[in-house]
Amino acid sequence: MSELTTAKNVYIPYMCDHALALEAALHAVGIPAETLPPPDTETLALGRELCLGRECLPLFVATGDILRRAQQPDFDPATSVYFMPTTCGPCRFGQYRTLQRLLFDEAGLHELRIISPNSANGYQGLGQRPLHFRRLAWQGIVGVDLLRKLCHEHRPYERAPGVTDRTYEEALRRLLEAIREGGGRRAVDAMAWAGRQFAAVETDRTQPRPWIGIVGEIYLRANAFTNQDIVRHVERLGGRVWVAPMLEWFYFTLWGAQSRARRARRVGDGLKALLAQWIQHYDEARMLRQVKSQLTFPHETSVAKLMVNTRPYYEPRLGTEAALSIGKSVDFAHHGLSGVINLLPFSCMPGIVVMGLAEAVRVDHAHIPWLDVIYDAQGGTNIHTRLEAFMYQARERQKTRS
Ligand code: SF4
Repeated sequence: MSELTTAKNVYIPYMCDHALALEAALHAVGIPAETLPPPDTETLALGRELCLGRECLPLFVATGDILRRAQQPDFDPATSVYFMPTTCGPCRFGQYRTLQRLLFDEAGLHELRIISPNSANGYQGLGQRPLHFRRLAWQGIVGVDLLRKLCHEHRPYERAPGVTDRTYEEALRRLLEAIREGGGRRAVDAMAWAGRQFAAVETDRTQPRPWIGIVGEIYLRANAFTNQDIVRHVERLGGRVWVAPMLEWFYFTLWGAQSRARRARRVGDGLKALLAQWIQHYDEARMLRQVKSQLTFPHETSVAKLMVNTRPYYEPRLGTEAALSIGKSVDFAHHGLSGVINLLPFSCMPGIVVMGLAEAVRVDHAHIPWLDVIYDAQGGTNIHTRLEAFMYQARERQKTRS
């Protein structure tokens, strides 16, 4: 990643608060970074203008985010680097970088460089101290996942509106500061502080809400603008959510690396992936311990077990997020959740696979209510009526099960 040695700024598109954790980790290893402001209708329009119109929704917004920044007078493409991870899998995500190169050239941004850590090597790291960076980024990702989970557990039941969001914001600020200062013990302390603050949030749980699992395309799952704030929408309609966490994807890439190494009999690669997984688990466990008492289901099911859930419906080695979404949906049903929402951008390949398999999953799990929500760049999903009907079914299931 020699691009980084001459870069004055690395721009990270804002998918969710995990981008801020990445920015903090880059700062910690001496790489100047800036998270772009969250996408909105302006960045969506900018991205669409340049694209052909058949690309994936996340590509429109991630491209528009940097194009808007490039319009500002202090933006220098020659010293800027755009951060866009990639993958070798079968879906279009692996082509984002290639297409964006063409789009940036077309927009006159020939000098703007792109760095693309790759999922095939488990995102091995950046800069002069790649392993240190990778560990910090991981701690940030775990921390943000846990804070989001705490927020989703408390907000629907809070007595004073807004207190959970304020607690989340302050806890996030402390976590990012800890990552910027080198993570490790500091990140654990930041989580301990968050655990105490969330424990102090007053809640009223006398009326249990139907619990809805959210799976689907990773960008849409995490980004409130593109998913039209589905989490708060469910909460407004009387539910609460369990969103499949970001960390799952990183465990999944290591699971994939181990399977490939096993098949090719590359013992060294297998051991490397195993060690990375062990370190990730170690960091996760340390941070989780601080907030565990505040979570209904503190442990996310391991990717290996999710793949066992997936296998009757889809061969996990085919990869893509479809493998995770199917396994997680089954996991939600095992945990007794009242419904599953699958989010997908229009024409998303893994998303369509999940839609096609949903009926089989439902039949095997007592017809758990299921809602596919397809988002296009026009913003039309007719979501309100469909979500109301879905929440009604979820409430009925909750009643019968309780
Ligand atoms: S997961 Fe779906 S939306 Fe995302 S890049 Fe792949 S095809 Fe596109």
